Amino acid sequence: MRKTVLAFSRISPDMVERLEKDFDVIVPNPKQGDVAAQFNEALPTAHGLIGAGRALGEAQLKAATNLEVISSVSVGYDNYDVAYLTQRGIQLTNTPDVLTESTADLGFSLIMASARRTAELDAWTKAGHWKASVSPDLFGSDVNGKTLGIVGLGNIGAAIARRGRLGFNMPVLYSGNSRKPALEAELGATFCTLDDLLAKADFVVLVVPLSDKTRHLISHRELGLMKPSAFLINIARGPIVDEAALIEALQNGTLRGAGLDVYAHEPLAESPLFSLKNAVTLPHIGSATGETRAAMAQRAMNNLTAALKGQRPTDLVNPETFKG
Ligand code: NAP
Repeated sequence: MRKTVLAFSRISPDMVERLEKDFDVIVPNPKQGDVAAQFNEALPTAHGLIGAGRALGEAQLKAATNLEVISSVSVGYDNYDVAYLTQRGIQLTNTPDVLTESTADLGFSLIMASARRTAELDAWTKAGHWKASVSPDLFGSDVNGKTLGIVGLGNIGAAIARRGRLGFNMPVLYSGNSRKPALEAELGATFCTLDDLLAKADFVVLVVPLSDKTRHLISHRELGLMKPSAFLINIARGPIVDEAALIEALQNGTLRGAGLDVYAHEPLAESPLFSLKNAVTLPHIGSATGETRAAMAQRAMNNLTAALKGQRPTDLVNPETFKG
């Protein structure tokens, strides 16, 4: 019997074609009516789900009585109730590693854009304000040699630290669950508490997964520890930062600037951030390059195919569910 795969976000025609070699594939189509209704209707037939950026409610998962695996086309899996999936014996897979370098590039570009005000000055130039050399009120801040603080020195954090240390001569501080001796040796990175990192770093980059422990990790108190000349970069997940507290700090000038790729609620609409020149706001594009998204899709398909064929997927988040 051919198993059924249901897509829960847009997947490319190429992916559909490749999956159809082994499985029946259902992709809800907006041209055929309400996508959510089509998805819910197909759920009971699905053995595998593939997609990204969508939370599946408990009622939906209960309706998915044949479900064996969810293959998320992302490294973060904070929108899944892993304990519930594990208890149901449903495998959950993600796509680590293949997005590390492109997400680190984006993180570093937010450091550069915030410090050198490139987005703001691009808009300023296009608005016809360039009549003479820029005045000091439009000057930025140096990046070279400044202290880089990485909160969560995992795959992406280490890739950003390398860019900072090797490309920009930045001393690296890091905080997290555990020490990383190899990275300390490679990059001269110094382990410290979050409070110490916040007090000392010129650029604080958040790259921890969202969990109950990291929700609002950065709020009023933590922002108050940062130097007024410092920048906060969030490429992890929006709810890790108390967004209202951040907006207040940016408005009051107690923080120099922020570079953001993620938000408390996405897509971001009607936010006070839009009127803040010292906030660079990107639309959650950490891994959004053609090459990386293709690699993520391939990895997610490999995981899904392995699971549905009874093999152990490479990126199994809940290994307890694999019975061998
Ligand atoms: P990773 O390799 O697993 O690294 C995560 C790091 O966070 C690890 O060093 C871990 O420390 C640390 N950590 C975990 N829980 C922590 C806690 N409670 N307090 C402090 N540190 C903690 O993951 P990654 O591939 O670098 O990705 C990191 C996150 O970036 C993802 O979870 C995702 O949410 C986000 N992301 C965003 C985008 C985007 O488009 N903006 C793209 C990719 C990823 P230990 O090693 O000591 O456990």
